[in-house]
Amino acid sequence: MRISIPSIPASSEVGKAKHQHTLQQAAEAVYEFLQKGVTEQQQQQQRLQGSTSSASSRWTAQGKEQSSLADERRSGTGAGTILMTGAGVSVDSGIAPYRGEGGHYEVHKTYRPIFFHEFVDSSEKGHIARQRYWSRSFLGYPPVLVARPNKTHYAIAAMQRLGAFADYITQNVDSLHHMATPSPSLAASSILELHGTLQHVLCVSSPTPGSAPSRPKDPTLHSHLTQSHLSGPRLRAEPRPFNTPTGQAYPKGCGFRGSRSAYQSILAERNPMWDEMAKEMHQRGTQPKTNPDGDVELARNTDYSSFHYPACPSCGGVLKPGVVFFGESVPDALRDRSFELVRRASQMLIVGSSTATYSAYRLAKTMHEAGGSVMILNKGPSRADPLASDKIELGSSEVLQLVAQRLAGTDRRKKDPVLDRLLTSGGPALVPNSGVRVAAS
Ligand SMILES: [Zn+2]
Repeated sequence: MRISIPSIPASSEVGKAKHQHTLQQAAEAVYEFLQKGVTEQQQQQQRLQGSTSSASSRWTAQGKEQSSLADERRSGTGAGTILMTGAGVSVDSGIAPYRGEGGHYEVHKTYRPIFFHEFVDSSEKGHIARQRYWSRSFLGYPPVLVARPNKTHYAIAAMQRLGAFADYITQNVDSLHHMATPSPSLAASSILELHGTLQHVLCVSSPTPGSAPSRPKDPTLHSHLTQSHLSGPRLRAEPRPFNTPTGQAYPKGCGFRGSRSAYQSILAERNPMWDEMAKEMHQRGTQPKTNPDGDVELARNTDYSSFHYPACPSCGGVLKPGVVFFGESVPDALRDRSFELVRRASQMLIVGSSTATYSAYRLAKTMHEAGGSVMILNKGPSRADPLASDKIELGSSEVLQLVAQRLAGTDRRKKDPVLDRLLTSGGPALVPNSGVRVAAS
């Protein structure tokens, strides 16, 4: 079977905004869309409360509520908005998208990312593929590590705080949404990382699949990769396996999960010549452009054969970054959870995504087929364009910051310093009523 890199199918409908929006019109449209979701959610809540009290003789309150919710979800009549974001929201943080203007596939026409089956191949060929991947990833990872959330990430965190939506799905693996969310535990429980995360390395193929040996094969490395796991600027709560892939996502792995940034320092120690090269590139400002997954493209004649990458310290198996590779399926728990979130909602807002990967597109398709609206805020064509009731071809930062400011209102901002910080973080802040207004309300 030939595996190809997903692309956006050509279609006369694709890429055309349903109509052109000014910034104000765009912000107004998104605001109205989110408000509709909030209203529907409130109505659903009232319906559920009403049915609970009227049928109290037959059901316990909790039982009835669960049953009604289950019925509503089964019949595709959820309520509220589910948000889905893609690589476009991280462009302002310095991470290039794959597709669209300036995207990696446009700039490097011959670039081909590694595929899952190549990475886990147990033959010598697999070892060479992993040397090639890890050497490139070693150079490509530092810019991802230092990237910080931009206005879009903070606006989304503010909108979540304001109740515009409870959970959201991201295709990004850079954890910038997590960094923008005020509480690590809220981020861990409400952000579904559909394509995994660059935060971790996971064991994917082990001589003893299923369970980690009681004594690690390499205790020093084991302790280095696990002890620095939850420290540093990216401090976060433990991931939930149905929101973020963990070691258990891989049936052939031993279950080990360690820190990608700690792995980076091990790679630097064990490959001093590459470390020198990375430092020189940094000094000269000639670092290769980084992809959303932290990979880079190097010259064709680059010799990877001396690159050393450590095996799983627990069992000696293969370690892989916690991101979903091309040709790899989204882990079952994540896939199921992503569909559940879509079923629980009545409409979807897609931000900064071309939805070219099927795992994301099928969620938009599910929403559309259940009769829910899909709104897209994305510069450039998207595979889901034909499903959208409204398509806005503008950058997300300005639009979403205006929406968040309008949702917040002046009073709420004064009372909630955390909210105020979210509304002014991530770059030059827009001052309310200073020329750009969402609507004449
Ligand atoms: Zn292992």
